[in-house]
Amino acid sequence: MKKTKRLSTLIILSVALAGGAVYASRVLSAYRTAEATPDPLALCTRLPRSTAGAIKVPTAGPIVSIDFDDGFLSAYRYGIPLFNAAGFPVTAYIITGDLQHSGNIDLTEIKALEAAGNEIGAHTITHPHLTNVSETQAIDEICGSREALLRLGILTTTFAYPDGYSDPAVESIVKDAGFIGARDTEAGLNDAAIDPYKLKSYQVTAATTLPEIEYAIAQAVQTKEWLILTFHRVDDTGNSISVPHQLIRGLIAYLKKDRIPVVTNAEGLAMKSRIAGTRDYLLSPVKATTEGTSARSRSG
Ligand SMILES: [Zn+2]
Repeated sequence: MKKTKRLSTLIILSVALAGGAVYASRVLSAYRTAEATPDPLALCTRLPRSTAGAIKVPTAGPIVSIDFDDGFLSAYRYGIPLFNAAGFPVTAYIITGDLQHSGNIDLTEIKALEAAGNEIGAHTITHPHLTNVSETQAIDEICGSREALLRLGILTTTFAYPDGYSDPAVESIVKDAGFIGARDTEAGLNDAAIDPYKLKSYQVTAATTLPEIEYAIAQAVQTKEWLILTFHRVDDTGNSISVPHQLIRGLIAYLKKDRIPVVTNAEGLAMKSRIAGTRDYLLSPVKATTEGTSARSRSG
């Protein structure tokens, strides 16, 4: 078991040098030849392990990550390019079953995002609440989305729970599928002691103001911790999970002014041990979701 693990690590490390797409297809074919098993979880554990070891990271915190969930076309057109033009990579969580939908990005656009230096993460196939489906379905959704992206030449490293719904069983499947970590929708900062499969984030919605985001960043600066900001749509006016591009411009100006390092989620995990602080710091003064008292947001 240990030997296998070390071998996987070596393979993954060599990939960073060899190039992701070629590697992904090679790993997938090796995985497929060993496929003849009726046990879906056993198949799942044959997916390649990702590792934080090969990821280059900047200095210790504070750090900020920018996530875009669900692969909306409006985010691809009006939001992500603004961040990229400022030199900030984002992490895009893709629902693999939505690739053909008109309002979502397609494979060409996902590849373009990856080529621009953004991280592509998995976000299931159909976006179910993973705590409300059977174990088999959860395995299909989690491993299936990672495998689907791997087939397309994209090796994913992190996962995001749809709408934040997770529990120990779901987290265990995510680990077995080879992800190094996963993002929740619970509001808060991430410190050195955070469980990588329970990453907190701050949901940015149509109701969120720039001063609220700036306050959250200021908290991360003060505590030298890791803030993950989660977005969905951009300039889809009238939609509760859409933000205007002007808000993004304001955020970028703030990040630049204070020279806050912006990293992908995989990079953040790779440098997690160097983030200061071990407190479970919650952003209580800031309205983090639009869903009343629940820590979970339906817009994850
Ligand atoms: Zn989602």
